[in-house]
Amino acid sequence: MNYLDYAATTPVDARVLDAMLPYFREFYGNPSSVHRLGQKAEAAVDEAREKVAAVLHCSPGEILFTSCGTESDNLALRGGAFANRNSSGRKWILTSKTEHHAVSKTAEQLAQENGFLLEWLDVDEFGMVTPESLGRAVCDDTALASVMYANNEIGSINPIAALAGIALKNKILFHTDAVQAAAYLDVNVETLGVDLMSLGGHKFYGPKGVGALYVRKGTGLLPQMTGGGQEFNLRAGTQNVPYIVGFAEALRLAHMERENRTAHVQPLRDHLIGEILETIPDSRLTGHPQKRLPNHASFVFKDVDGNLLLQLLDAAGFACSSGSACKTGNPEPSEVITSLGYSRDWALGSLRITLGVDSTPQHVDSFLQTLPGLVEKARKLNQK
Ligand SMILES: *Cc1c(COP(=O)(O)O)cnc(C)c1O
Repeated sequence: MNYLDYAATTPVDARVLDAMLPYFREFYGNPSSVHRLGQKAEAAVDEAREKVAAVLHCSPGEILFTSCGTESDNLALRGGAFANRNSSGRKWILTSKTEHHAVSKTAEQLAQENGFLLEWLDVDEFGMVTPESLGRAVCDDTALASVMYANNEIGSINPIAALAGIALKNKILFHTDAVQAAAYLDVNVETLGVDLMSLGGHKFYGPKGVGALYVRKGTGLLPQMTGGGQEFNLRAGTQNVPYIVGFAEALRLAHMERENRTAHVQPLRDHLIGEILETIPDSRLTGHPQKRLPNHASFVFKDVDGNLLLQLLDAAGFACSSGSACKTGNPEPSEVITSLGYSRDWALGSLRITLGVDSTPQHVDSFLQTLPGLVEKARKLNQK
């Protein structure tokens, strides 16, 4: 299999797995236990928290470990919205239709079930939220704004520091979903200026099922998982020690190797984009041409069934995606692609190719030799 779907998930780095293994059978204590085995586990969680804080330029007390990026998004939105309404009565939530469902569906539920008011922020033709768009939407009654750092489906990078600046000026909470961004972009919360930031381990060669949420000191947050006093009373439940250790090591490596990883994927990605736009008629790049993740190429092809194209590619040995992994089998066009202004005949034909550490020029070349024929085949089948 030629894996070109690193935005969906990544394999666990061998060094990360090595760091995790002792915590399954050797140092298996509960971090809350008083005895030495418990202390050993607690020390591992503390050390992981320090490692994450060092990458984020924050204090360890501002990092919460969660079960995934989705949980971090849920905790940020629900916890932030409820706490803010409790303290200030503010009810508006601002977010965009290009967000991952972990954010957009959570915002929708807060509006439908919990009495919040939801406004969708305008996005431009690249799916980006501009500072002007946020500036227009904020009001005295805004509780929270959530704008993703980099888009998983179309790769565009939002101007987070500028957006967070507007939020700060208007005294509203600002959350960013950095789950997709953390593999390649700087996640320094000092320069970003965010109050809340979500991360997920499996997008940067860490394990699945572990995430983190940065919570700026002083930010009100109502816990969503209640129980024991773990994670500073903000996220109950016995910590998943080996996964937390793996998360922190994977993030540390992503930070240390960022330049090398970018230098590896970006030329391959640029070659891919150039060739596809040149060789395939009626093809367009989705997302911003420059301000995009360096491993990310995404397209729409007119009059192509994107899911059919994925199946044809799979049969030919290529693993790609048509956007968010969750959308497989869904015949409706992705809301992200639709929000860019594409009509249905374009929006249904989306394709995402994302590269990673094991991608080679040979992978890319064989993909480029295969794709045009399969797009043509999908178009013919579409006409029937
Ligand atoms: C993958 C992803 C998520 C969800 O993270 P999980 O750890 O899979 O729950 C949320 N937001 C974005 C942008 C993602 O790419």
